[in-house]
Amino acid sequence: MMLQGKHAIVTGGGTGIGLAIARALVAEGAQVTITGRRLEVLEQVAEPGMHPMVMDVTDEAQIIDRMAEAVAARGPIQICVANAGIAEGKKLHKTDSAFWRKIMATNLDGCFFTVREALKSMMTTDWGRVIAISSVAGLRGAPGAGAYATSKHAVIGMMRSFAEDFLEAPYTFNSICPGYVDTPIVTRNTDSISERAGVSADEARAMMVNQNRHKKLIRPEEVAAAAIWLCNPLCESVNGTEVAIDGGQV
Ligand code: NDP
Repeated sequence: MMLQGKHAIVTGGGTGIGLAIARALVAEGAQVTITGRRLEVLEQVAEPGMHPMVMDVTDEAQIIDRMAEAVAARGPIQICVANAGIAEGKKLHKTDSAFWRKIMATNLDGCFFTVREALKSMMTTDWGRVIAISSVAGLRGAPGAGAYATSKHAVIGMMRSFAEDFLEAPYTFNSICPGYVDTPIVTRNTDSISERAGVSADEARAMMVNQNRHKKLIRPEEVAAAAIWLCNPLCESVNGTEVAIDGGQV
């Protein structure tokens, strides 16, 4: 129960990687505010120690209000997992500004608003962990997914820079870069990849599996284990860096 009494927030905590992280945080004794746009999804998965809260990460004003409500209810936020994201792909010549803005609004602006507001609360305490869920697409280019890869590169830059801002402080800022993880995003992506590559859904799934040297999709719990490790008090010297959970993909 390493995180007993700590208040954590996990955006996109109702599904996939976010839910696995929320469960792992609860298992360590944290009170976890899980957020997303769909209350019914959050309520369905919530277990004791999890607190559903609707919060659209593209809506700055809503984030400010809702985060304040969570702090009033459960105390200062000391663990912030900026996980909410969307993964959609288009090649450059088909990427219009509306598509570009949609990806950036969620993956980049959403991460920034979330982390900034959580940090204001964290700064009233003497310990904190900020974790952004980037991607292997944040470590190298991703064919047919330039906007997504750009947003995930930027998230890494954000964590590195915020770590520099607070080097003297007891807070750390790191990114986790998963390869293909078995979540709803990958299920949806199978269709989009098969459409773009002109292959069947089975072949698209095989393309993802084969990028992992263990020939598998990564389990969300593997990503959660890295998040819990970053929350360990002994991880205080891991700051401004990235942890790749990618089966050797990069
Ligand atoms: P999911 O689709 O299961 O998770 C995405 C979550 O983000 C959902 O819970 C969704 O909730 C939430 N979300 C999306 N848009 C918004 C928004 N505007 N406001 C609030 N919440 C939002 O997929 P994953 O678990 O796989 O994805 C989690 C993160 O992991 C993403 O950032 C993704 O880019 C990253 N990632 C995933 C990989 C994979 O292979 N699965 C690989 C590398 C990175 P709701 O729809 O209810 O709002």
